Amino acid sequence: MSTQNLTDGFHALIDAFKKNDINNIYAVAGIPITDVLRLAVEREMKVIAFRHESNAGHAAAIAGYLTQKPGICMTVSAPGMLNGMVALANATVNCFPMILISGSSDRAISELKRGDYEELDQVNAAVPYAKLSIRVNRPEDIGLAIARAYRVAVSGRPGGVYVDIPGEVLATTVDKDVAEKSMFRIVDPAPAQLPGKAALDRAIDLLASAERPMILLGKGAAYAQAENEVKDFVESNKVPFLPMSMAKGILPDSHEQSAAAARSHTIGNADVVLLCGARLNWLLNQGQGPLWSDDTKFVHIDIEPIEMDSNRLIHAPLVGDIKSTLAALTEGLKAKGGMKPSEEWLNSIKERKERNFERMAKRLEADPSPMNFSSALRAVRDGFNANPGTILVNEGANTLDFARSIIDMEEPRKRLDTGTWGIMGIGMGYAIGAAVETGEAVLAVEGDSAFGFSGMEIETIVRYNLPVVTVIFNNSGIYRGDAPGTDPSPTGLLPARYDKMIEAFGGVGYHAEDSASLQKAVDEALKARKPALINAVIDPTAGTESGNITHLNPQSALSKS
Ligand code: ADP
Ligand code: MG
Repeated sequence: MSTQNLTDGFHALIDAFKKNDINNIYAVAGIPITDVLRLAVEREMKVIAFRHESNAGHAAAIAGYLTQKPGICMTVSAPGMLNGMVALANATVNCFPMILISGSSDRAISELKRGDYEELDQVNAAVPYAKLSIRVNRPEDIGLAIARAYRVAVSGRPGGVYVDIPGEVLATTVDKDVAEKSMFRIVDPAPAQLPGKAALDRAIDLLASAERPMILLGKGAAYAQAENEVKDFVESNKVPFLPMSMAKGILPDSHEQSAAAARSHTIGNADVVLLCGARLNWLLNQGQGPLWSDDTKFVHIDIEPIEMDSNRLIHAPLVGDIKSTLAALTEGLKAKGGMKPSEEWLNSIKERKERNFERMAKRLEADPSPMNFSSALRAVRDGFNANPGTILVNEGANTLDFARSIIDMEEPRKRLDTGTWGIMGIGMGYAIGAAVETGEAVLAVEGDSAFGFSGMEIETIVRYNLPVVTVIFNNSGIYRGDAPGTDPSPTGLLPARYDKMIEAFGGVGYHAEDSASLQKAVDEALKARKPALINAVIDPTAGTESGNITHLNPQSALSKS
C-alpha cells in the first residue's frame, strides 16, 4: 500500500498546535508520547523535557498566565497523567489557562478492565479539576479537540483543560487531505466583554460618592495585562490601591498611591472598594471581620458572573473583562469630575505608611549572624534590584511571607508565587516556564522544604542552560529548623549543602553564610544569566510555625495543654 497520501495522529497533533501558534510543550517523555515530542522538536517547536510531570505542568500553567495562551503539558498515561493533574487543578484554581494532554492505554482493553499497561479512566479522573475533559478517538478529530481546548482554557474565567489521546490514535493513519481540512485556527479566543450600561452607571455612581475608596488589584488584572487601564483609573481618580501578592507590580510598589504598607488600615476603613481581578477568598478573610468592616460597599469586576456575592453582598457587580470595564469606568467617572477621596482618608493612609516604612527600615538594619529571614531578604532584594527585568518566583512559609513585604515589584507579572492554594512545589516549574516564555532571568527564592518538591528540576535548568538562579533559605526545617520532638522530627530537615546539587549537574553553586556574600552571589549569578544555586544559611531558630497562617493550623484545648 502506498503511504504517500497518508498522515497520522502524531503529525496531526503537531499541525493542530502550529495552526494555533502554540510553540512550546512542557513534558515528560514515555509511552505513548515519546515520538510526538521527537516530532515536535523536528518541526521546530520548543520541547522542555522535565523530570516530573507535576513540574512540567506548573511550567505550562505559568506559561498560560504570562502569555494569555494555554500552556501545554504532555504526559504519559495513568501515573504521569495523575502527576500532571496536580498542576492542572492548581491552574484551574488560579485561573491560568493550561491544556494537559496525556497519552492513554488501549481503549478496547482498558474499557473492559482487562488490565492494560497503565490503565486508568483518565477522562473521568480529570473531570473535577478541569473546565473540560475530553478524549480524541480519531486522528481527524485532533484539530477540533485542540482548538476547542484552547478556547475553553482562555475564554471566560481561564483554567485547565484535559485532552486524552489513546496511543493508538497517534499511530492511526488518515488521508492527508482529510487531516488538513480538519485543522482550524480559532478567532478571537477571549473576546472583550463589557457590562451593560445600567451596571456601569450603578458602579460609577457608587465610586463617585465614595469618601474613603480603595481599589484592590488581584492577579486577574495582571493576567488581563490591564496595567495601562489600571494606571489611568488609579491616577485620574487619586484612589489608593492595594495589590494582592501576584498583582504587585501592575503599578510599581513604589507608586505614591500604593497603600500596601497600610494594608489593614485601608481594608478596614474603606467605604467603597473596587475589587478588580481578585476574589474575596481565604486570602482576604472571605470579606469578613476583623479585617473588613460590615459597612464597606463593593464594586466588583470579574469575568465570572458567579464570583459575585460569593462571600458578601456586591453592591455593583460588573461582569466583564478588566481592560474594557476599567476603561469604561475611567471614562464614565471623568464625565462626573472623577472620584473624590477625602484628604483626611489619603492623609491617614500616608501617615500609616510612613510609620510602617520606618518600622521596616529598622527591622532591615540588623545584620545578625547567622542570618535571619529579614537580613537575608534585604541582601536578596538588593541583588534582585540591581538586575531590572528579573522575574521573582517565591515559595516557602516564612520565606514567602517575608519576601512579599521586603521585595518590591516595579513591573507587572514579575512576581510568581504560591497563589490561590498557597501550595508548595511550584518553584522550579514556574521558574522554568517563566524563563522559557520570557527569556528574562529568573530568581527563585525558596524555603529549603519548598525546594524539595521540585528540586530535581535543577538538572532540567542546567540541561537547557536557563538563566534561573535559585536561592535556598536553608534553616534545615519545614517552618523552623529547631523543631522540638522526636529525632528526626517530622518538620526537621538536614542542614544540607544544596549548592553541591547543582554542581553535580555542572551548574554554579554558592554557599552564603552572611548577608554581604549572599547579595554578591545573587547579583553575580543573575548577571551571568547561567544556572546557579545559592545555599543561604538561615538561623534554624528564625521564623514561625506555618508563617503568617499559623491560625489555620488546627489546635484544640487538648493540643494546647
Ligand atoms: P488574587 O489571588 O490575586 O486575589 P484571584 O485568583 O483570587 O486573584 O482572582 C482572579 C480573578 O480574576 C478571578 O476571579 C478571575 O475570574 C478573574 N479574571 C481573570 N481574567 C480576567 C479578565 N480578563 N477580566 C476579568 N476578570 C478576570
Ligand atoms: Mg525551612
